[in-house]
Amino acid sequence: MKQENAVPVAAMYIDGRFVPAQSGETFESVNPVNGELVALIPFGDERDARSAVDAAAAAFPTWSRLSAAARAKYIHRVADVLERRRGEIASVVTTEEGKPLHEAQGELQLSIDSLRWYAEEARRAYGSWIPDPVPSRRLLTQRQPVGVCGAIIPWNVPCAMIFRKAAPALAAGCTMVLKPAEATSYVSLKVAEVFAEADFPAGVMNFVTGKSSAIGSVFLTDARVRKISFTGSTEVGRLLLRGAADQIKRVSMELGGNAPVIIFDDCDLTATIQAVSALKFLNAGQACIGANRIYVQAGIYDEVSRRLSDHARQVKVGDGSQPGVAMGPLVDMRAVEKVEALVGDAVRKGAVVRAGGSRMQGEAYEKGSFYAPTVLSEVPLAARLHDEEIFGPVAALYSFDTEVQAVEMANNVPYGLSAYIFTENIDRAFRVGERLETGMVGINEIRVGAAEAPFGGVKMSGIGREGGREGLEEYLETKLLAIRVREQI
Ligand code: NAP
Ligand code: MG
Repeated sequence: MKQENAVPVAAMYIDGRFVPAQSGETFESVNPVNGELVALIPFGDERDARSAVDAAAAAFPTWSRLSAAARAKYIHRVADVLERRRGEIASVVTTEEGKPLHEAQGELQLSIDSLRWYAEEARRAYGSWIPDPVPSRRLLTQRQPVGVCGAIIPWNVPCAMIFRKAAPALAAGCTMVLKPAEATSYVSLKVAEVFAEADFPAGVMNFVTGKSSAIGSVFLTDARVRKISFTGSTEVGRLLLRGAADQIKRVSMELGGNAPVIIFDDCDLTATIQAVSALKFLNAGQACIGANRIYVQAGIYDEVSRRLSDHARQVKVGDGSQPGVAMGPLVDMRAVEKVEALVGDAVRKGAVVRAGGSRMQGEAYEKGSFYAPTVLSEVPLAARLHDEEIFGPVAALYSFDTEVQAVEMANNVPYGLSAYIFTENIDRAFRVGERLETGMVGINEIRVGAAEAPFGGVKMSGIGREGGREGLEEYLETKLLAIRVREQI
């Protein structure tokens, strides 16, 4: 490592202190644009996860008994510090994950929004008074925090994902141990500094980096961890669900997507092309809500294919920290190889490459994990990328004739996170939107996320919601109080 001296050595955040891994080991976090070292990250294992759970369990009684208003004050303070440091942390997101700076800034905004919204929403975690059939009794319910939560997040939304989980959990009165993805651990440890700077009480929020299976197994086997909140692949989600079954832990699972985009021939074509292109190349296609299967009505198929390809060729690819760059690299070379394999398979089965279709060529791209914005037409339904999540900048186009056919095709996968419809016909928008088997449907709209709104999937895309009122429910239990009341005065 030639610039080793300049490279920061990051620390985990456990019980309000910044600490190395107990093993003393570290691993390297690199910039996907050029392979340069970003930071050395502690390679934590069971021991570190255990001491973080110790801290979270010790902090729980005090934190959970604070009033919601008192917790809100602390959470707003985290948002204040995050606002102050948003530029710096956005640039770490870009350096470590690769997304363009404006997308990273969007993540920071969603993080701040989530903190502020949940700080207030937890103050409205009302219970109820239930009309009782028994005169000498009163029945009431109270909302209580679940307890210590173990959170595991992926690399593609490394900052906002922390707060999608931590903001509702902490506001509800839970304490948390969070494990980021290996590839973007430095972002998490910068965010840990924000909690420290905001004088957050020790042990309430903890960050552990390192060996995912070891840390995950502490979450699963330590009975003090009452809930697992996971975002990532369906494969790992399934593994965690099985593990959580032993102690009947509560779970939230935000898993893979395979979003259909249905473009009807009565859409506003210019707006649609722009929206679909933006959705497809967002974060270089590495978004769980990204366009995976683009179904185009037969009459406009050729035109959509041509105009989407023109767009794809114009996307400026490069180092996301540079102005004007619209798409960065993929997270690593393994991701590039996976996309290559999926495109190769589709082409062998008959798909036609209309734009891109290969790694980016040229000196500027040699050291990074870049893949060109790609459009494939005439993709056969048997292609692997129809059934698998592409997680790369490849727009795959399929053709359909009727509305019924479009709905059937869209629903014919085991996933159901988001779906998108483009049409100017309001009856059709409702009809189709209501029949799609997904947790979210965008109608002439690609932005389906907001701090205020429930985000999540059905079928193999997950269990539970993040965002909105529903997101708070994930961290609350309902306690019933049955009270004897003597009738005579
Ligand atoms: P992944 O392999 O499932 O990784 C996600 C997280 O799980 C990482 O922190 C990873 O740590 C950890 N992990 C891996 N193996 C584990 C184990 N045995 N025990 C405990 N933790 C383990 O997913 P990915 O491929 O990195 O991320 C992309 C996936 O996430 C896509 O499928 C995408 O759709 C999904 N995603 C879903 C949403 C949503 O809201 N539904 C949002 C974003 C992404 P290491 O990286 O350190 O191995
Ligand atoms: Mg992984």
